[in-house]
Amino acid sequence: MSDLYKLQDPTKQYPRPKFKKQTQAVPGLDKKMTPKADHGETSYRGSGRLPNRKALVTGGDSGIGRAAAIAFAREGADVAINYLPSEEADAREVIALIEAEGRKAFALPGDLKDEKFCVKLVKEAHKKLGGLDILACVAGRQHAVDKIADMTTKMFEETYRVNVFALFWMCKAALPLMPAGGSIITTASIQATHPSPSLLDYAPTKAAILAFTRALARQVAEDGIRVNCVAPGPVWTPLQTSGGQPGKKIPDFGSETPMKRPGQPVEMSPLYVLLASQESSYVTGEVYGATGGLEVS
Ligand code: NAD
Ligand code: MG
Repeated sequence: MSDLYKLQDPTKQYPRPKFKKQTQAVPGLDKKMTPKADHGETSYRGSGRLPNRKALVTGGDSGIGRAAAIAFAREGADVAINYLPSEEADAREVIALIEAEGRKAFALPGDLKDEKFCVKLVKEAHKKLGGLDILACVAGRQHAVDKIADMTTKMFEETYRVNVFALFWMCKAALPLMPAGGSIITTASIQATHPSPSLLDYAPTKAAILAFTRALARQVAEDGIRVNCVAPGPVWTPLQTSGGQPGKKIPDFGSETPMKRPGQPVEMSPLYVLLASQESSYVTGEVYGATGGLEVS
């Protein structure tokens, strides 16, 4: 794993294409990625930026959510993570990593496509953590389909449910429970502004997340709650190797960026930490990209 704090050439800091051809079943497990992704397990160093915060992270088992959960704990937060029951093996590793920091960790599996579950998840996280200061919505569904003729209404609807509806349901449930100073962080994508032809459902959900973030931020600013968005470029996670990209694109994943490589989940963590912490007290309704040089505008 790379030393995150050493001055070095970022284009060479992490693995570059070509990657081994690989596929796995949805939702995909971090355990099955080659090469392994870096979520900061041995590299991210905390410096007390989130003392005693209470955070809920969706998609906290793997990929970008796992990196955010680890960083939050290293910065001093107690963390509850949500994921699908089939991802228990990945989730257990994250729970152990959070507990290794001496922080409280709660595993709250369940399906975000269901409104009742989303509301229950937020209430349960609030109860178990003893408060809710940070809501990081990282979970997402992405499944590439080349032709519109092959995309069913069910697929289209499920992507909207996980990526957009769940965000609405969770924010609605969380806001009455969050104190002034609370932070909501959403996760969009370069796809919001530069959609791939095979992501006809996913890309517009990410554009919706951008607009939702900006609208909600302006609605709740006077309550002292900030709402911001992280917009990653291509990042090496199981979302991509479980059908997020057409299988043939995996060997060259990330080569289209000016840095010629995909990002690693840990390279997203500093953005989630900054947006969660009081250091970004004047930042709301913003979109922070981490794309290896692609432009999110
Ligand atoms: P990931 O597969 O590691 O994480 C996605 C998570 O979403 C899964 O771990 C799963 O727990 C959760 N999820 C999916 N469907 C769910 C459901 N029905 N109920 C509950 N949880 C569900 O992949 P990732 O790339 O880290 O994805 C995290 C976020 O980053 C997503 O919102 C994704 O759209 C976004 N993103 C990823 C990339 C990338 O290249 N990897 C680029 C831009 C944006
Ligand atoms: Mg996962």
